[in-house]
Amino acid sequence: MSKKLLLEIVTPDHKVLSQDVDYVGAPGALGEFGVLPSHIPFLSALGIGNLYYKDEGRTHYVFVSGGFAEVTPEKVTILAEAAEKAADIDTERARKAQDRAQQRLARAQEKIDYARAQASLRRSIARMNCRNSGEKAGTC
Ligand code: ATP
Repeated sequence: MSKKLLLEIVTPDHKVLSQDVDYVGAPGALGEFGVLPSHIPFLSALGIGNLYYKDEGRTHYVFVSGGFAEVTPEKVTILAEAAEKAADIDTERARKAQDRAQQRLARAQEKIDYARAQASLRRSIARMNCRNSGEKAGTC
């Protein structure tokens, strides 16, 4: 049997995933990084985007937003502010969040919190992409 890597994804309120996998690709704050078993240890901040992992030849997608990743040769631990498996993403909710954020950003003259509205927009788009990717891969 080939060597595996334990992937654990947790948020402040629940454990999203704990599974042996073959590969993890994650959205680091400075760009995507990939991890195979026996990787050298490192820590990275996470951005907003889609983590994916490969298991038994299939690719699974998980939305993650903010937090940290800790990599050791045997394990990847994701401590995210928010995370959802593709199958758990409510696309309609994400679409409404996108509309709200776009409306806020369109009110250019008013005092709005741009960084907050932009982050909300990025989360909503990443959630919809995650769900689409999972559906295309047939894993959600
Ligand atoms: P919303 O405005 O719809 O709450 P948001 O981007 O502000 O979206 P977050 O602050 O990232 O939401 O997450 C708050 C909680 O709601 C988290 O537990 C997250 O997992 C969950 N969540 C947010 N959006 C969705 C979604 N579209 N589908 C499933 N869970 C979601």
